[in-house]
Amino acid sequence: MRNKSVSGTLYIVATPIGNLEDITLRALRVLREVALIAAEDTRRTRKLLNHFAIKTPCLSYYREKEAQRAEEIITRLGAGAAVALVSDAGTPGIADPGALLVNRARAAGFAVVPIPGASALATFLSVAGQGAVGHVFLGFLPARSGERSKLLRSLSTATRPIIFYESPHRLLVSLGDCLAALGNRPIVLARELTKIHEEVMAGDLAALLARLKERQVIKGELVVLLAANNAARSVVKAPSAGADFSELAAWYRDNSGSSMKDAARKIATDLDLSRSQVYQRLLEIWPQGTVK
Ligand code: SAM
Repeated sequence: MRNKSVSGTLYIVATPIGNLEDITLRALRVLREVALIAAEDTRRTRKLLNHFAIKTPCLSYYREKEAQRAEEIITRLGAGAAVALVSDAGTPGIADPGALLVNRARAAGFAVVPIPGASALATFLSVAGQGAVGHVFLGFLPARSGERSKLLRSLSTATRPIIFYESPHRLLVSLGDCLAALGNRPIVLARELTKIHEEVMAGDLAALLARLKERQVIKGELVVLLAANNAARSVVKAPSAGADFSELAAWYRDNSGSSMKDAARKIATDLDLSRSQVYQRLLEIWPQGTVK
């Protein structure tokens, strides 16, 4: 464990995505010890720092000024300063500025040290109930409707779930584009994770879109997951004759397009187990909202 932030080092520090208790002890120490904090929005970061009585100076570091600010930060690193980069919330570099500075600092020979913590993506995945299937993460969808639809259509046969960040004012139109490009399929949607109005919804895309349209207003920050295409998944090679429970369960869940009940029946027959026992075990790995 390192106990002191090191001069000439760039720290990439994750901050909470809502609940301030989610900051790590290490993040607090580094933010206190560095000479400078580069922040996407200094006013927002100052509120966080004030909450923890941290007095470190801040420099604004936002996408439009990334190249110029990166040079200034490299100069400070060269003069021996330790610098932290934070974004508005979550982990810098994930649909946030950061990559340019990371690459330049590393190329200039400075240590770049991650200080992990909250990320909307990891937080969402922890409650999305998708198991270890992998996913295609898009960050934000393109703002232009044509580009958005083109990208979504190109993923219509993806064999992994598609995940993206979304803003509340574009949610309905994006979900409409998803329905048109990808067809109806299971969805998990999270809103305001770690905040007072936290909400995780699961179901099928068409029904959820209809429910959301009934709301007068949709507020907050959102993460969306759309299940993989069943037809595309069903062409994946079936498991071998000697497959065990985990292998079979993962295959039925990810590739067969079967309902959980059907999968339980087939696995119970294949492995000569009781159907209810298999059903109970499948409940632990089947995506929320698709249990039938
Ligand atoms: N780098 C950040 C991270 O890893 O958490 C994400 C930055 S991106 C600019 C902001 C987007 O992340 C929001 O528009 C929303 O889609 C998602 N997000 C951030 N906080 C969230 C929260 N508390 N609940 C749900 N989604 C959130």
